[in-house]
Amino acid sequence: MGHHFRYRNKEMFCEGVRLSDIVKEVGSPVYIYSKRTLLEAYTEFDTAFANVDHLVCFAMKANSSLSVVSLLAKAGAGIDCNSGGEIFRALKAGAHPSKIIFTGVGKTEEEIRFALQYDILMFKVESRSELRAIDRIAGEMGKKAPVGIRINPNVDPKTHPYIATGLAEDKFGIDQSMAFESFGLAASLPNLRVVGLDMHIGSQIVDVDPFVQAATKMAVLALELKKAGFNIEHLDIGGGMAIPYKVEKPASPKDLADAISSILNVTDCKILFEPGRFLVGNAGVLVTKVLYTKKHKNKNFLIVDAAMNDLIRPSLYDAYHKIRAVELKKVETMVADIVGPVCESGDFFAHNRTINKCKQNDLLAIMSAGAYGFTMSSNYNARLRVPEVLVDGNKFYVVRDRETYDDLIRGERIPEELVK
Ligand SMILES: *Cc1c(COP(=O)(O)O)cnc(C)c1O
Repeated sequence: MGHHFRYRNKEMFCEGVRLSDIVKEVGSPVYIYSKRTLLEAYTEFDTAFANVDHLVCFAMKANSSLSVVSLLAKAGAGIDCNSGGEIFRALKAGAHPSKIIFTGVGKTEEEIRFALQYDILMFKVESRSELRAIDRIAGEMGKKAPVGIRINPNVDPKTHPYIATGLAEDKFGIDQSMAFESFGLAASLPNLRVVGLDMHIGSQIVDVDPFVQAATKMAVLALELKKAGFNIEHLDIGGGMAIPYKVEKPASPKDLADAISSILNVTDCKILFEPGRFLVGNAGVLVTKVLYTKKHKNKNFLIVDAAMNDLIRPSLYDAYHKIRAVELKKVETMVADIVGPVCESGDFFAHNRTINKCKQNDLLAIMSAGAYGFTMSSNYNARLRVPEVLVDGNKFYVVRDRETYDDLIRGERIPEELVK
């Protein structure tokens, strides 16, 4: 898996566009995505499983930009949505309802109603009380809801605990020992149509082993359920494939396909995959400008204009992102803490990082920021959310504007009575 953020004559380009030219037009900070990188990642995944009847459903919580979702939907991807809002965005981006999966451990009545208006591929159900709720609402609406049941395979994905989801102690899915009972309940409810079995064990999973273990358990279960007469058309094995952030050498889709295709094919089910990070992670960078430099007791600080509200992964997961100078002016390096302007010590992008010597106004590219970057951004410290730019060859498009101060107070009011 490669990407198209490369130096040419010591200047970083995204495909055919100089990053500094984008900043000249839209300012900094800014998220920049490469169309070619994301489509190549999709094709790599899709072709790896050419011998398996499958659909790749992009987990859009990784990057819900309308343009990004639209490109992947147009390439043939389905979309895995985690909320009513994500379904709304997916539809706006042109995704076909028949390729939309509605995932989520806590769907609200309003969200279920909203999703039932469209003939989506399926609701991925995570508890028996949710089965009853969807049945009741579908009944009221005169619909039959397609449901898959998410089973927790109790496999250790060997990743950060905040992004492990398939262990017995996690909140996700239904315990495997309750699988038959849950499918029995689903099949008995009049307004549900059982269509599949699902799992998702976590994120940034570097090895194939956890996938092999979980897929094996699920394949066995799918066959047992079929034998018992349940309609298992889909087997959804979730997402979680890792990307290289630092020095990891994650398994490729081909490695994964070599390891699990035959296991999956035994089931005779259509296989659904839900990669998020893999499709978009290395297709985006966050470009930021050095506002100030300072030194405390031999420690260098680069204070940049992006902050934890723009990219929270370092603060939240202690995640590592490569950080590169957009223009390589000097060969000299420095060791610095790269930090943002928010009033929190947790507002950092890197500690003690060796980086090309920088000074005020230099631009830095925080790499591998295409997944769980903008989507996890907030207005903390009343900071404006940054624009998103999509590069296509020699052209670039501003696909989301920088917010304005008016955006910050949209929908707010000060009741006169309150302050009189
Ligand atoms: C988050 C999530 C994904 C995507 O995970 P990645 O690690 O980004 O591939 C897929 N499926 C479900 C159910 C998820 O919650």
